[in-house]
Amino acid sequence: MQTKTATRLGLLPPYLFAELDRLKKEVAASGVDVISLGIGDPDLPTPQHIVDSLKRAADLPKNHRYPDYEGLEEFRRAAARWFERRFGHRFDPVGEVCALIGSKEGIANFPTAVVDPGDIVLIPDPGYPVYYSGCVFNGGEPYFLTLTKRNGFVPDFSSVPDEVARRARLLWLNYPNNPTAATVDAAFFDRAVRFCLKNDIILAHDSAYSEIAYEGYRAPSVFDAKDARECAIEFHSLSKTFSMTGWRCGFAIGNPQLISALGKVKTNVDSGVFQAIQEAAITALNGGDGDKLGEYCAIYRERRDLLVGALREMGLKCDLPRATFYVWAEVPSGYTSVSFTERVLKEAGVAITPGSGFGKGGEGFVRFSLTVSSERLTEAVARIKALRL
Ligand SMILES: *Cc1c(COP(=O)(O)O)cnc(C)c1O
Repeated sequence: MQTKTATRLGLLPPYLFAELDRLKKEVAASGVDVISLGIGDPDLPTPQHIVDSLKRAADLPKNHRYPDYEGLEEFRRAAARWFERRFGHRFDPVGEVCALIGSKEGIANFPTAVVDPGDIVLIPDPGYPVYYSGCVFNGGEPYFLTLTKRNGFVPDFSSVPDEVARRARLLWLNYPNNPTAATVDAAFFDRAVRFCLKNDIILAHDSAYSEIAYEGYRAPSVFDAKDARECAIEFHSLSKTFSMTGWRCGFAIGNPQLISALGKVKTNVDSGVFQAIQEAAITALNGGDGDKLGEYCAIYRERRDLLVGALREMGLKCDLPRATFYVWAEVPSGYTSVSFTERVLKEAGVAITPGSGFGKGGEGFVRFSLTVSSERLTEAVARIKALRL
């Protein structure tokens, strides 16, 4: 039997990372101790009080049943309280917050709620790949907003042709940004909201890295912008903030019609977040903000300084990021993103991520993750230095 799969799967770009994974395994199999600076997954553990909270909650039979679709009311209250403490904006936990099985889930499902076939979705390039897959899985037409060094890795809305803006239904933004580590100020969100309101576009902001920041930088929320509540939804995640990537927990907050539309899709697709995890997430959101988060950011910051200093010494151009645990560096002349990544992997045994894996706009750059210890990072840097780039 010939197994036929859906046409939409063919719309996905060739999975560049699969080839690199294969190469990484090959290098490791030859006996090299590969250092991975490739993945955006914290090496630092979930703080113990959150783990303990899960253990207690896991014992309770009431938590073994199907959870509420939209999340425990207490979870949504904790999320709204955390958001108000952090950003100073009050939202109704019942109508304006929705629990997510990790923010990736919400980001992937949101277009099903708001994008019709043929609608344009404005997507940053380079960008988190789920904005694209969520668009094309729902028959949307992607229009890429190229992020360049010249524009500070921030889209220029005035470059969007009128007929594109008119057909656009949804705009994705993500600051602090993955993969470029760029940040914005609240004035940028004012411009974005004005552009969206003028053209009747929904603004979806992915705020996964809002808390991973350095030297007092405080990432703004899209809701710092005037009238954002009329058109915006913001996706938050416990993954990076509390080192909880494996737990799958996040939330969406914002315009009640958009929250309700997303909830309607989810009701038909999934059955919510395991309640014991929601209880642990409440513990995370209620208290532990300060303690480990500050400690962990200090650790990322030390690694950032070590890596950026070493890359610059080697002549690789990169900005010192104010947020995220990534360093976005230009490849030396004579290389593409992939050829540089391959050389560093084969000859130095260090895995990094080619910028082109995040879209055409990422060509000429590579992303380093700060998710290994300073000792490993020092070793990685020494090995790359030995290549005499
Ligand atoms: C890590 C990440 C997410 C989401 O992660 P979840 O674990 O699904 O909450 C979302 N957006 C970006 C840009 C990310 O890097």
